[in-house]
Amino acid sequence: MALEELYREVILDHYRNPRNRVELDAPTAHADGNNPLCGDEVHLDLIVADGIVTDIAVTGQGCSISQSSASMMSDAIKGKTLADVNDLTAKFKAMMDIDANGDAGIDPDRPGAMLGDLEALQGVRKFPVRIKCANLAWTTLQEALGN
Ligand code: ZN
Repeated sequence: MALEELYREVILDHYRNPRNRVELDAPTAHADGNNPLCGDEVHLDLIVADGIVTDIAVTGQGCSISQSSASMMSDAIKGKTLADVNDLTAKFKAMMDIDANGDAGIDPDRPGAMLGDLEALQGVRKFPVRIKCANLAWTTLQEALGN
């Protein structure tokens, strides 16, 4: 299977079967993000305890890129320390940066390496208008965590 096709499958899988689409009883952090250009919405509830994101809930609506990115993000950060979450956020944003140049441990030939399913979103860089869709979940996450 061609890599682009594989990426498309991963994105569609997260879009059709979004992870962590649940409700949390007592979230300690919350933020709403929207991307008016595309009509995307991402709502995040998190439970942060002792510097660890112990749980996350994602709701929202919008295009497949924004919603699959939110699903992948939730999977990637659950159970991680805030330091790891910040590191992952920096790596993801560097991957989505058209000028990704190797900072933050990024391999310029394969900028999504080490990011798991998130790597599938790197093809979005070819469509600058959709980069905001892919970044929405992460920008909302930073807001929720007070960065
Ligand atoms: Zn979108």
